[in-house]
Amino acid sequence: MSGSQAEEDRLDSVVPGGGCGMRIEDSVRLSREILHWANRGLSRTDFLREVSKVLMDFTGSDAVEIRLSDGDLHYRWEATRRPKNASRFELVRWTLDDDRTVIPASQGNTDLERLCRDVASRHFDSALPFFTDNGSFWTGDTWAPLCASPVTSPEAHAESLCIGGHYRSLALLRFVVDDQTIGLLHLKSQQRDYFAGEGVELCEGVAQTLGLAVADRRAEAALRERVKELTCLYGIAQIVEQIPISLKEILQRITKLLPPAWQYPEITAACITLDEDSFVTPGFRKARYQQSADIVIDGRRRGVVKVAYLEEKPELAAGPFLVEEEKLIDAVAREVALIVERKEAAEEKARLQGQLIHADRLATIGQLAAGVAHELNEPLGSILGFAQLAMKCPNLPEQAEQDVEKIITASLYTREVIRKLMVFARQMPPKKHQVNLNRVVEDGLYFLEARCTKAGITVVRGLAPQLPDITADPAQLNQILVNLVVNAVQAMPSGGTLTVSTRVSDAYVLLVVEDTGTGMSEEVLGKVFLPFFTTKDVDEGTGLGLAVVHGIVTAHGGSIDVASRPGQGTRFEVHLPLIEAEETREADQDDTPS
Ligand code: ADP
Ligand code: MG
Repeated sequence: MSGSQAEEDRLDSVVPGGGCGMRIEDSVRLSREILHWANRGLSRTDFLREVSKVLMDFTGSDAVEIRLSDGDLHYRWEATRRPKNASRFELVRWTLDDDRTVIPASQGNTDLERLCRDVASRHFDSALPFFTDNGSFWTGDTWAPLCASPVTSPEAHAESLCIGGHYRSLALLRFVVDDQTIGLLHLKSQQRDYFAGEGVELCEGVAQTLGLAVADRRAEAALRERVKELTCLYGIAQIVEQIPISLKEILQRITKLLPPAWQYPEITAACITLDEDSFVTPGFRKARYQQSADIVIDGRRRGVVKVAYLEEKPELAAGPFLVEEEKLIDAVAREVALIVERKEAAEEKARLQGQLIHADRLATIGQLAAGVAHELNEPLGSILGFAQLAMKCPNLPEQAEQDVEKIITASLYTREVIRKLMVFARQMPPKKHQVNLNRVVEDGLYFLEARCTKAGITVVRGLAPQLPDITADPAQLNQILVNLVVNAVQAMPSGGTLTVSTRVSDAYVLLVVEDTGTGMSEEVLGKVFLPFFTTKDVDEGTGLGLAVVHGIVTAHGGSIDVASRPGQGTRFEVHLPLIEAEETREADQDDTPS
């Protein structure tokens, strides 16, 4: 007898009592095996492969098919032992039963699809011989007519069952994963009459275990995703705790935390963009599967968090991205927004504190300067007065006359220094009128422009038309302009551009003096308003120019900002209030001698 003949005989032999001679003990062991694979952290495909293997081993089936739904994914998994070892995964259609439960079977009218629907929704005709009491279907001869429906030929019938000519016996069992999900388990054998009632009933228990195992695996997978998500968020919290790291460093580190929190870390790359800066993990690029969430701070979109799969994601996987991952990326974007907000608030606080300390220091120095100026003013008046008297003496020897002349010049210089100190210390109250800043600038520049041109400097005016008047001391405003412009000119020894502009911003009139000169280092920038601070030679500067400007601006209830970059230039911005502040007006009235 040839081998193929033996095979033929095997397939055609009628197995007494059904070939699926599973005993209770086998079904218990099988159930245990199935559950064992549920908590192994296997991918969906690996889980299905292992489970179908044990199902074939224990039931002696030649093929196992599992139909299931997972969210939007409806699939059919088939593993075969005969005719050859193989497995296949494909997407299937689905339909809803009366309870609106999803059934992975199509509305198609083949016998098999109809059977799947009947078994899944438990609509079956119990009068028919092929159903167990629990509603599982089985047949020992798929070629035989199923019911009274006219079937042209046995082969055509097998065709209409869609199970192919290889399988003569079929058992179709329903299992429950959760209240929304019904699965179908098909056991197939090439042997005729392989399944019989009792064997199928034992398999029903196994099918229920399969439902439990699937539910278990899903719960475990969900838990694993949740753990990854929490690990990621915890990691972010930890990064933020490390106080002395910069925002950039924080964002770079957060970016690195993202790929491990996704389903397929090996092919996942992440990118966080904030304003102009981008932080990426290696290989990040625009990809087919990509997910993003905006970073919104104070209602403004400041950046985006992106996660991309660099390669096609593994086939059969849910997604492209899990619902948890959608939520996670949103959570990360929100977290980043909070971090940026907090960091910026802290920086702003530090800046204000720095300003406060600076103002406080200037005020202290101001008091000292005022005291010294007062003390010196009196004796200086005497020195100058008596020197001038001495000059008037007749018959003064020439040498003595020259000496007295020197005393007078030195005293006048000292008086000027003291006057400046007093302006800085606000001991020279402004004589306020209604003035127009544009007018002050025009008049001032008229005298300064010649000096600029000589130094190869182009003067650009940007005066706002119809600039409102302010209440201020025009002579002092002129002093501000002169001091700022002279500094700018000195900072551009080989020429450049000086821009003087005015404008209104909120409740202030602004005077902006900008140069393209040497600029200042951070260290110099922190000291410019201190009296006697200078980086210039003795005959070039006394270090009182900006101290005086500061005194005048403060006396007018305004403020002054400076921004500078070494090698690029400097910009001074003077803010003068449009409406005179209450306190400065009162102070003026107190101070003004009647
Ligand atoms: P002085 O001009 O007499 O040195 P200031 O109070 O006017 O005193 O200026 C103090 C210092 O601030 C200067 O010595 C210089 O170092 C710096 N500075 C002021 N304005 C500018 C500017 N426009 N560009 C570069 N540095 C400047
Ligand atoms: Mg100066």
